[in-house]
Amino acid sequence: MPIIQSDRLSAVVAEIFDRAGCDRKEAERVAESLVGANLRGHDSHGVIRTLRYVTWLETGWIKAGHPVRVVRESPVMAVLDAEQGFGQSAAEKAVEIGIEKAKAMEISVVTLKNAGHIGRVGQYAEQAAAAGLVSIHFVNARSSELVAPFGARERRFSTAPFAVGIPQNGAPPYILDFATSIVAEGKVLVAAQGGKSLPKGALINDKGDLTEDPIALYSDAKPPNYRNGTGAIRAMGEHKGSGLALMCELLGGAFSGNGAAGPASGKPFANGMLSIYLTPAAFAEEDNFFSEEVRRYVDHVKSAAPAAGVDKVLVPGEPELERLEARRRDGLELPEDVWNSILEAAEKAGLPNSEARSIAGVN
Ligand code: NAD
Repeated sequence: MPIIQSDRLSAVVAEIFDRAGCDRKEAERVAESLVGANLRGHDSHGVIRTLRYVTWLETGWIKAGHPVRVVRESPVMAVLDAEQGFGQSAAEKAVEIGIEKAKAMEISVVTLKNAGHIGRVGQYAEQAAAAGLVSIHFVNARSSELVAPFGARERRFSTAPFAVGIPQNGAPPYILDFATSIVAEGKVLVAAQGGKSLPKGALINDKGDLTEDPIALYSDAKPPNYRNGTGAIRAMGEHKGSGLALMCELLGGAFSGNGAAGPASGKPFANGMLSIYLTPAAFAEEDNFFSEEVRRYVDHVKSAAPAAGVDKVLVPGEPELERLEARRRDGLELPEDVWNSILEAAEKAGLPNSEARSIAGVN
């Protein structure tokens, strides 16, 4: 398995998107986003997606360099249509608009529809937190019905992620960011490509039996395509997680105008997102109460005695930061299948394998 330093991996992925039709800035933005996910331990939303994105560019499912259209706006809200532009570009722009409005008006609400895959949603909560804002994001994925609701064995939801970011003065923010399914689809893809295996009972087959074999989602056809399988990923957290998934579909999908997941609509995959931005100072009676209370309470939570077999109690965002430090230092270990899929994407984009290997520093 090749081990590649993150800057070299970013360079090769950026070169692929550059040759596939993105301008340099967008190519680097997408590469940084994917490698950023790997660095934080979310390999499911990392460079494993490169080939899929290049294929989507070829088929026109995502468009390079496409600006976000402002459908409607007021000082506190905006309705945005990405019109199948690159998700990373559209979502970054949507957050920029949300930040600008919340800075001026203390709160803002922004919807985004028809965005290409936006990747790791926590990235956008981090962007808002870097500007000192609390943010909440409900996301859905149209044309990506993958998840069985509580009590069902058939797919009805997308993996519908949810994220919240809490800024901290002079310290990294707390970022809660997860798919509302037991695992994100990308984690099933990682498992199908020889990476980390799935937790027990993460999937359900068409007979209603729990399983962790990726075949339930993809069948045994190659390359893995979730449209081929007859099973489903299970919603997380029993009825409660399933309820949150429904709300992500209703808010990220229906409210945003993206359209909730559903039987094949004939429309391409698209992320929809409803984001809420809050300026902490606008809600505080005492200066710094929020940031001091956040710090005090998080310390209190972390001081709880660990359960058997657990080293220390962590809070959202901490595991990602720990992995970020280690992976920046040690490089990223890519399963052979993933590296080969990057080389395939490179070939498709017109970057010869010899050049791709040389940029990445892989023999
Ligand atoms: P996950 O199951 O790894 O959960 C991650 C969250 O749990 C993070 O907030 C993390 O800090 C927290 N966490 C993890 N271990 C912890 C611990 N021991 N103690 C306290 N907190 C802990 O994430 P996932 O569901 O596999 O999602 C992976 C990524 O996939 C996310 O970035 C998500 O946004 C992304 N995603 C994107 C889409 C899309 O359509 N764009 C769809 C689904 C998922």
